[in-house]
Amino acid sequence: MAKEQFKAESKRLLDLMINSIYTHKEIFLREIISNASDACDKLCYQALTDDSVKLTRKDFKIDLSVNKDARTITVTDNGIGMDKEDLENNLGVIASSGSYKFKQEVGDDTKDTDVIGQFGVGFYSAFMVCDQVTVRTRKFGSDTAYQWQSSGADGYTVTECDKSDAGTEVIMHLKDDTEDEHYSEFLEEWKLRELIKKYSDYIRFPIRMAVTKTKKVASCMSDKPDEVPYVEMETLNSMVPIWQRKKADVKPEEYNEFYREKFHDFADPQRVITVSAEGAVTYKALLFIPGATPFDFYTKEYEKGLQLYSSGVLIMDKCPDLLPEHFRFVRGVVDSPDLSLNISRELLQHDRQLKVIAGNLEKKIKSELAKMLKDEREAYETFWKNFGRQLKYGVVSEYGIHKDLLQDLLLFWSSTEKKLVTLDEYVSRMKEDQKVIYYAAGDTVDKIDKLPQLEALKDQGVEILYFTEEVDEFVAQTLRSYKDKEFRSAMDGASDESAQEKAKEEADTHKDVFAFVKETLGDAVAEVKPSTRLKSHPVCLTAGEGLSFEMEKYFQLMQP
Ligand code: ADP
Ligand code: MG
Repeated sequence: MAKEQFKAESKRLLDLMINSIYTHKEIFLREIISNASDACDKLCYQALTDDSVKLTRKDFKIDLSVNKDARTITVTDNGIGMDKEDLENNLGVIASSGSYKFKQEVGDDTKDTDVIGQFGVGFYSAFMVCDQVTVRTRKFGSDTAYQWQSSGADGYTVTECDKSDAGTEVIMHLKDDTEDEHYSEFLEEWKLRELIKKYSDYIRFPIRMAVTKTKKVASCMSDKPDEVPYVEMETLNSMVPIWQRKKADVKPEEYNEFYREKFHDFADPQRVITVSAEGAVTYKALLFIPGATPFDFYTKEYEKGLQLYSSGVLIMDKCPDLLPEHFRFVRGVVDSPDLSLNISRELLQHDRQLKVIAGNLEKKIKSELAKMLKDEREAYETFWKNFGRQLKYGVVSEYGIHKDLLQDLLLFWSSTEKKLVTLDEYVSRMKEDQKVIYYAAGDTVDKIDKLPQLEALKDQGVEILYFTEEVDEFVAQTLRSYKDKEFRSAMDGASDESAQEKAKEEADTHKDVFAFVKETLGDAVAEVKPSTRLKSHPVCLTAGEGLSFEMEKYFQLMQP
């Protein structure tokens, strides 16, 4: 049976697409520039086998110009260009991508190219901001040039035109400003610079614009030099992303500068981590551990995430899925040619690749921190001061599923060492007869140090970890044990069986005294009993089974 073909109402389809797939109108420039870059890439590829091209990679460029009076932005490339058939097929058919076909044809050779397009819709994004788009183009090797013109939904025309060189010129006429939309902004040099930096900084061909500058020239009229304006073609993009360069070729200062500029930080990063992966997913990552805690780090305002690029084009500014919560302080970029993007190229279609990348990055960050802890203790302590609390939150979150990953990175104050120590260091110092890891919680190290309950243990030379943050006891509770040594509060009940026996005897012998004290204090205390912890102090307060004072305080704080 003969099948009927679907007929799309192109007008409606175009309308629908233009107005619904993109969240930000400004990406139209990213799309048009990406197409120009693809066109250069394609001719570049042809040059590998076709001597008549006579151009090498460095000869390709993309020029940007504006005409404020005419309200137009023009993007010109000297790439492969289009003939009449190409125009019909690629710009006349929605969702037909010449670039996709090109990639299919080139197949395994794709390493030589970096073609961005694939869906065949990016071009039309221009109609979000334009009421007319004119494409003047001449295919490499052809004598005839063509002009394609459209005002959007009501179709397009193709006519012959004059154009001396191969390549394409896209002339975009901006819509009139409305109350909500200030399209004229796209005619401003600063705006175009901003958009190129944001979305197209790592396009591999120079994106240039004629800019007016001034130079000082000695004046014949006065002592002061004259300011003379002149026009210069300026390259607006950096082209080679710093993360694509070999680490050995990049000076530390360059990384620092990149970090400060990109992430708007005054301080240099504390650590730079580079990753270059090939395999299940190919990607490069450049990560930074900030040198200081961002002012809003422990607030809801702070957004975690890494910048995500696909072949040098920005896809997402803060991709949260690339970082686990416990490493949310990390900043940086990930660039992968392997992402399957959705049609707007703003999001990923499915997150399989992201999951792989995120998993690898988590391991990498962990191992870098572990290395720093081992080799550069002082630097690690600075890191700990800035972000240690986040690691502790990581241990207690999600029912402790991250504890194995994080427990070796934790630091606590030690009563005997008088400095921050790791759990491993604590356990390795434990005397043979010590069965548990002792901790004591309080407001500050000083206050804990003065607690009467600790005197006995301290006299025996037992090391006690001082917990000064509210989350610390939850950490101990979540970990339960470290290297088979359980955590125990140094303020809880008796320490061993014989001491407990003794306490029981004491309670019996001096029953009347304890009953009297309890009666006198009434409801202020739950129970009065002998302690095995005290040495020079007569009494102390203890939290019984379950919550400690610190945890009770914490819960009180949490209550609305
Ligand atoms: P995509 O880039 O995803 O293929 P677009 O809608 O952006 O989709 O572009 C459609 C097609 O039009 C491209 O695949 C390409 O074949 C062609 N095209 C667009 N711009 C140019 C250009 N500047 N030079 C040559 N061909 C172009
Ligand atoms: Mg495109």
